[in-house]
Amino acid sequence: MEPKAVSLEMREYIVEMGAETVNWCMQCGLCTNLCPWRLVPGETSEVFNIRHMQRLGQMGMEGFEDETVLFACSTCSMCQTNCPRGVKIVDNVRAMRSSIVGGGMVPANLRPILGSAHANGNPWSGARENRTAWQEGLNVPRFGTDTEYFLFVCCHSCYDPRSTRVARSIVKLLEHAGVSFGVIGAEESCCGESMRKLGDEELFQKLAQSNIELFNGKGVKKIITTSPHCLWTFKNEYPELGGEWEVIHYTELLRGLLAEGKLSFPKDLGKKVAFHDPCYLGRHSNIYDAPRDLLGGIAGVETVELGRKRELSLCCAGGGGRIWAEVPMGERFGELRVTDALESGANVLTTSCPYCLNMLTDACNSLEKQEVLEINELSELLAAGLP
Ligand code: SF4
Ligand code: SF4
Repeated sequence: MEPKAVSLEMREYIVEMGAETVNWCMQCGLCTNLCPWRLVPGETSEVFNIRHMQRLGQMGMEGFEDETVLFACSTCSMCQTNCPRGVKIVDNVRAMRSSIVGGGMVPANLRPILGSAHANGNPWSGARENRTAWQEGLNVPRFGTDTEYFLFVCCHSCYDPRSTRVARSIVKLLEHAGVSFGVIGAEESCCGESMRKLGDEELFQKLAQSNIELFNGKGVKKIITTSPHCLWTFKNEYPELGGEWEVIHYTELLRGLLAEGKLSFPKDLGKKVAFHDPCYLGRHSNIYDAPRDLLGGIAGVETVELGRKRELSLCCAGGGGRIWAEVPMGERFGELRVTDALESGANVLTTSCPYCLNMLTDACNSLEKQEVLEINELSELLAAGLP
C-alpha cells in the first residue's frame, strides 16, 4: 500500500472552514463506539469510522473526501456526547465537507437537491409559488405587524404530500388554542440547515440572508418552527448573520398552552404510543419533556418508552443531508428504530420532526410492518385528540 502524504495546507484549510477543534482529538475511538453506523452492516459501515475521519482531517490526508466517507455522517451528535476532549465532531464533519463541496465537487445525487435550493428556495424540486399549496382548504392567517408569531413551515412539510399533514395539524392546534400566528408564504426560503451540513456554505449564506431580510422586513419578533432542524439553525446559526428572534418549536409552545388550559385532548384515541426523540430536538436542542408532556395529555394514550431514548436516542438517519441518500434495506437506522418500537409493544411510533417521520415511515414499509405499527408525527395525534 502506498504511504499517504500529510498536507499541512489541507489541514489549515479544513480548520479555516470551521474544524477548529479537530486537533484536540486524541484518537481514543470512544466516538466510533457510539456511532449508529456500528449497528448496521454494509459498505458504508465498513468504510466510515468517525475517529479515522478526524485523523485524516488532522493530517490533511487523503481519504475523507471519498463520497462514502464524507457524506455518511447524519450529524446526529451521538458521538459528541462521548468525547473526553469535547471535540466538536459535527462541526468538523461540516468543515471537511465544505472544503470539498466549496471547490465544486458535489456528488451526483446531491446536485439536483442543491440546484433546487438555489433556484426555487427549497430542496424538493417544488416551484416557489407552490410553497403554500399545503394550505389548500384552510384559511391560514397571513403574518402582519399585529401578529405575535410567525409560523415557519419546513420545506418538507410544504412539498412532501405525507408531511403536509404535519403543517395542517399544527395550524389546527394553534387556531384551536387561539394563538396569534401567521405565515408569510412563497417568499420564504429553506432555512438551509441541511445545505450547510452538506458543506454548501455559499448556498446556506444565500438562503439565510434572504430569510433574514424577509423576516426582519415583515417585523417578525417570534417564530414557531414545525421542524427541529429549522429551530436549531434559526437559534444557533442565524443570529451571527443578523437574524435574532425568539424561536420556539411547536411542541414547546403547545406544552405551555396545555398547562395553561388553552388546549385539551379529550378524545379517547385508544393507542399505545412510543416517542422517538429526534436528534435535532433532543441532543442538539435539549428538548425531551415537551413532547412527552403533550402525549401524556391525550386521553386514551398509553405511553411506552423505547430502550434507546432521550440523550441516547437512535438517529433515524435523516440529518446531515442523509434524507437524500439511497441506503440499501438492512442498512437503515430507521429499521432498527422500528424494531425498537415493536419490541416496546407500541402500536404507534410517533415523533416530532418531518425528517424522522419520513425515515421511520420508509423503514416501517420496508420491513412490511405498516399493519402493526402506525408511524405518525405528534401534531397529528394531538389534532386527532382535540374536542
Ligand atoms: S454525528 Fe452521529 S452519524 Fe455522525 S459520526 Fe457522530 S454518531 Fe456517527
Ligand atoms: S471521542 Fe473525541 S478524542 Fe476520542 S477519537 Fe473521537 S473525537 Fe477524538
